Amino acid sequence: MSRVLTPLVRLPWRSIPLRPFLARRSYSTPSTEQAQEPKTAYPALNGVISKHSYTDYAQEYLGKPAPEGVRLVKARLSVMVDGEIRGFRYMLLRDACKCNLCVDEHSKQRKFRTTDIPPLIVPRDVKWDGKELQIKWSSDIEGWGPDHVSKYNATMLKDQRANPPRSDTGKMRRRLFWDKKTMQEVQHWVSYEDYMNDEKAFIRSMRHLALMGIIFVKDIPDSREMVEKIATRMGPLRNTFYGPTWDVRSVPQAKNVAYTNVSLGFHMDLMYMNEPPGFQLLHCLENSCDGGESLFVDSFRAADLLRWRSPEAFKDLSKLHLSYEYNHKEHVYNNSWPVLEMEDGDLTKQIVHVNYSPPFQAPIISDDHIHKHWSEYRRALAMFASEIERGYNVFQLKLNPGECVIFENRRVLHARNKFNTEQGKRWLAGAYVDEDAVLSTFRTSRNAHAQLWHETRVQRPRNAPKAAAGKQATAKNNETE
Ligand SMILES: [Zn+2]
Repeated sequence: MSRVLTPLVRLPWRSIPLRPFLARRSYSTPSTEQAQEPKTAYPALNGVISKHSYTDYAQEYLGKPAPEGVRLVKARLSVMVDGEIRGFRYMLLRDACKCNLCVDEHSKQRKFRTTDIPPLIVPRDVKWDGKELQIKWSSDIEGWGPDHVSKYNATMLKDQRANPPRSDTGKMRRRLFWDKKTMQEVQHWVSYEDYMNDEKAFIRSMRHLALMGIIFVKDIPDSREMVEKIATRMGPLRNTFYGPTWDVRSVPQAKNVAYTNVSLGFHMDLMYMNEPPGFQLLHCLENSCDGGESLFVDSFRAADLLRWRSPEAFKDLSKLHLSYEYNHKEHVYNNSWPVLEMEDGDLTKQIVHVNYSPPFQAPIISDDHIHKHWSEYRRALAMFASEIERGYNVFQLKLNPGECVIFENRRVLHARNKFNTEQGKRWLAGAYVDEDAVLSTFRTSRNAHAQLWHETRVQRPRNAPKAAAGKQATAKNNETE
């Protein structure tokens, strides 16, 4: 609700010169500077709000003026949180109470229904110290006695959702777009031992995964069980008709056949499902064939480049819905997605999803809209396809036995070079973990070590020196094609 109401009350504040003072007073540590400042009486502060707001109901509801930084109007209150005015309807504030009377201590489930709250509920007492808002209610929910106090801290008033999409652990978190050069220099490797047993190393890895959408685990014991262990460190396995884990395996074939295994172009997995898996793991157990390198591209970067180079094509791809299918005797799946999805469908906003998986595309001949606009759509799709495959975007490496890549399936496109099965073997074990589960792990990681989480940054390379010595295991493979 705050998001809806905020603009109504925030706008007048933009022009108020008190703002720097207000912002400063929200800090709790008293500085000498603050101590010397004359204390502004709340009627003056609230008077500023009054000029731009409606009738003050504090006297009516509380029998006295509202505390400093709070203003009560008929159906909602405004409160100054860290220098910003936020507005909340009383009913929704009451609804947000998480005290032990309202929310079960153990299960954390609510003990009332939103519809149990009397529509005319108003406060009878309000306290605000810049950090915590306390409210006692007139005409509370039936059964809630006079002792009931609702408490809201500043964080909750700013955004009380468990994992807000824009936070650095959310769906629309800030990501660091990368190209081949960036990935060659800042790829994140962690040993299996550290990933599994060193909490801080694991948290750093999760932060890199959140930012870059791809990390690598090395020194993994030689066992088919390992991919499940690595995956479940992040969250439960996502089961599909391929099984909870699966194999990409190739054994030597007829000796006169070289490179029978064709390359597999850039794609995302399981786009024919309603909820394609958020994250994918590929653990290399054997890779002694010639070829078979793995290729990765940051589709968000490719889409963003297209946005600047050809806004028309970018727009067309937000309208072009492609279909994907898995159509076999035992399983039949299909789904369609716009190639590019932006926040609120707004072309100037963040990219939320790229949906691109040519090997799994289904016919679209029955779509009249696509027929009608095909020439624009074809041009836009071709521009995007060629952007993805440009050399400067493609990061390539050959996974060695004992190495595992973890990547964001709905952001990082993956592909495989053809390989020679005449000699050698190739065996990767794969698994998926849903986005929800990994976002939860991002959040718990951040909660456990907030400072470490925030300090872990990815430095963009400057003037591109050669890859650091510690990354030689992959760097030597980067230039094979
Ligand atoms: Zn409560």
